[in-house]
Amino acid sequence: MRVIPLHREDPSDYSCIAYWVLGENNTPSDRNTLIDTASTDPENLAFFLREMVLQPKGIGKKAVEQVILTHSHFDHSGGVPGIDEHFHPATYSWLPAGRSHKKTRDGMSLTVGDQSATLLHTPGHSEDSMCVFLPETGTLFSGDTLYRITDHLGAYPKAYLDTLERLAQLDIRTILPGHGHAITQDALAFIRVCLGNVRQSLLHD
Ligand SMILES: [Zn+2]
Repeated sequence: MRVIPLHREDPSDYSCIAYWVLGENNTPSDRNTLIDTASTDPENLAFFLREMVLQPKGIGKKAVEQVILTHSHFDHSGGVPGIDEHFHPATYSWLPAGRSHKKTRDGMSLTVGDQSATLLHTPGHSEDSMCVFLPETGTLFSGDTLYRITDHLGAYPKAYLDTLERLAQLDIRTILPGHGHAITQDALAFIRVCLGNVRQSLLHD
């Protein structure tokens, strides 16, 4: 699997890191996948296209065959119209998005690059949040679901506690978040610290 983070350094544009996922050997069964699409700024698509020239994508295959949105906030989904226009991908997201939206269920399996992935509905940051989990490598594309929680002074929806309990059960070895650095060491410990703090925090509906 090749995972290519796509993020343009531009302080005037608040945008997530999108992840472009390709198979190792460009076989016909691979699904070239874009996880999140960055913000509405058209510079992002131009940047994506420049980066995408640099990688083999498989003969006759589009650079982006499918899009998975971790949630609908603009810094993740703003690029959908431009990506749609350019690649006509299938789009998986908890809420309908994109020209060719596919019905998306919690726990559904999908090929991402050359791996089998599970889509997880992980409400908390937003009601429509999803994570993409690749069990083979223990990779979790977490969108905005996971961020460092170092105290129990916050307030969270109860659903977020359930989400963290659920993620803490998985064999997660690498977290690729929508913002900030990848977590490649002690990923589960990171989740358990967040979980412990959220458990002691104020919870609301
Ligand atoms: Zn975000």
